[in-house]
Amino acid sequence: MSRALLLDANRRLEKALKHVPISDDTSERLQFPKASLKVSIPIRLDDGALRVFEGYRVRYDDTRGPTKGGIRFHPGVTMDEVQSLAFWMTFKCAVLNLPLGGAKGGITLNPKELSKFELERLSRGYIDAIADFIGPDVDIPAPDVYTNPMIMGWMMDQYSIIRRRRSPAVITGKPLSLGGSQGRDTATGMGAFYVLQAMMAKLSRSPEETTVAVQGFGNAGSVIARLLFDAGYRVVAVSDSQGGIYCARGLDIPSVQQFKASTRSIKAVYCQGSVCSLINDYDTLTNAELLALDVDILVPAALENQITEANADAVQARYIFEVANGPITSAADRILAAKHSLVFPDILVNAGGVTVSYFEWVQNRSGLYWSLPEVNQRLQHMIVTEAEQVWGIAQELAMPLRTAAYVHALKRLESAFNAKGTRA
Ligand code: GLU
Repeated sequence: MSRALLLDANRRLEKALKHVPISDDTSERLQFPKASLKVSIPIRLDDGALRVFEGYRVRYDDTRGPTKGGIRFHPGVTMDEVQSLAFWMTFKCAVLNLPLGGAKGGITLNPKELSKFELERLSRGYIDAIADFIGPDVDIPAPDVYTNPMIMGWMMDQYSIIRRRRSPAVITGKPLSLGGSQGRDTATGMGAFYVLQAMMAKLSRSPEETTVAVQGFGNAGSVIARLLFDAGYRVVAVSDSQGGIYCARGLDIPSVQQFKASTRSIKAVYCQGSVCSLINDYDTLTNAELLALDVDILVPAALENQITEANADAVQARYIFEVANGPITSAADRILAAKHSLVFPDILVNAGGVTVSYFEWVQNRSGLYWSLPEVNQRLQHMIVTEAEQVWGIAQELAMPLRTAAYVHALKRLESAFNAKGTRA
């Protein structure tokens, strides 16, 4: 995760550039993030010691609107990773036609090692450090890996304290009681599910004859696993960072969710399986085994770089829906294409999160709040419309869906650059 990731992101861009008449100005502009900020965040730990954490915020491009993207708390966070993720956000917002540019942020830490009070001090310290870099009309953060509504609430409060005015529209993914939107917590999984359903209908596949494996059981993975289960798909395997469980007949996802909530581990579901008659014939499996399962649909919903040159050959799934950001490297893309696996790309499939974030921002600014059915209907309409367009481009130009999604976004980015005129 590193420079290699950023290069990989740019490689996708280069591939798409071959298929659309995009000006040299646009392609030159898109190689560089607009602004990258690195900060040190000193906080007092509960035992009185001082510890300094490193944080980042990158605004990649704001031509189509204020920049938007999550904040990640993870030990692997680096400037290169944040830049790549901000690049992807730029394209994701353009694919969904949101009036927003792309950004990303992060702090390098293992959040599980901090107490709740330490985490709050760190979240507030991060906002102190980046307050002049963000704002409701400038850059609007949101949750990402290992951050959640509670953290967004602290951050919004800290920004409001600094500005001396209540500023709910500075951040999305907040708790409902602080101006959050209905449906934001389930939006990534929900959006992915809408795309998957629409694409399966195109391919004339019914849920009952379709097996699925889901890697990652966090905010996105657990939601899509449940939606697929409820829709009648046979979800045969799920996993978290410790490993997973498998059952050829299909897992009982509501029970798995219950166990995960109480034990915080998918493997514990297996160990405690004997107390639940439904799941006492489950097997355990590693994440590597899950990715290589003979299933119809694979849903990587964890972190980037899960399917690489090293293991792409082992993947057997016919359809892959990227719910995580960047789970497949560009080298793996080529191997999967040769095996005729159809990859539905992250910048389309997981765009439900940022779409409902956009709805939250709109609601905060208008002061009028929408019901859950209203949020989900709007989400479904927007994401399925764009999915159909990406599908159409892929068919028409005989290209992978990922390249088609980039082409779709690039046209919108180019038209915004052109509309602004020639000033560099
Ligand atoms: N972190 C999410 C993503 O990668 C959501 C970003 C947002 O809501 O702004 O798309």
